[in-house]
Amino acid sequence: MALDINAITDSVHFAHTDLVNWTLVADDTGVILIDAGFPGSRDDVLASLRHLGFGADDLRAILLTHAHIDHFGSAIWFAKTHGTPVYCHAEEVGHAKREYLEQASPLQVATHAWQPRWLKWSVAISRKGAFTHEGIPTAQALTGDVAAGLPGAPMAIPSPGHTGGHCSFVVDGVLVSGDALVTGHPVASRGGPQLLHKVFNHDQDGCVRSLAALAMLETDVLVPGHGPVWRGPIREAVVQATPR
Ligand SMILES: [Zn+2]
Repeated sequence: MALDINAITDSVHFAHTDLVNWTLVADDTGVILIDAGFPGSRDDVLASLRHLGFGADDLRAILLTHAHIDHFGSAIWFAKTHGTPVYCHAEEVGHAKREYLEQASPLQVATHAWQPRWLKWSVAISRKGAFTHEGIPTAQALTGDVAAGLPGAPMAIPSPGHTGGHCSFVVDGVLVSGDALVTGHPVASRGGPQLLHKVFNHDQDGCVRSLAALAMLETDVLVPGHGPVWRGPIREAVVQATPR
């Protein structure tokens, strides 16, 4: 479960673990996180900040691609104990506050758990605090003005499907795709660009439509929510990921 941190560009750094990834964007005005791992990823998230020379109080904001526990877990703690602003797409704010939950239930997951990969994964994520229902009451909608003032001035690319308010980001030419497009997952039977298993997706048709929208982007580096960095024209990743 080693944490691996890679400089993708001068400002974009990709933190990769076996279970989930997050991205750091740093410049001389500070650092932001895009996604924040599980609650139990906190030490790794702090280590990734330290790796770039930052402490918890240097964190100017956390942007969420979506409010699933594996992506916003440590943000609960940052928001509560450091007052870190947490932003997501307007359509995802209620989810981040846990006014509702659009996540596969333990029961839905359990129907797959007889498969060794799923069972191993279920145990691993429960150790990372995956089954808390705590939300982030201070979560806010990311506006263009706010985004423009953050390190890297990330551009929001709405990509609903995996959740109703899922949002990808392009920052310094890098596509941060969250779970709209991944390159692997502990329960996936293959590596490479793909959608997550449909049990995880709120709206599978929406996922396919959002993939098509991502294909229009002119980026050639993809840092996903799960799986390794992928390099090449994004439309090629989308072709590989589109279910046929
Ligand atoms: Zn995820």
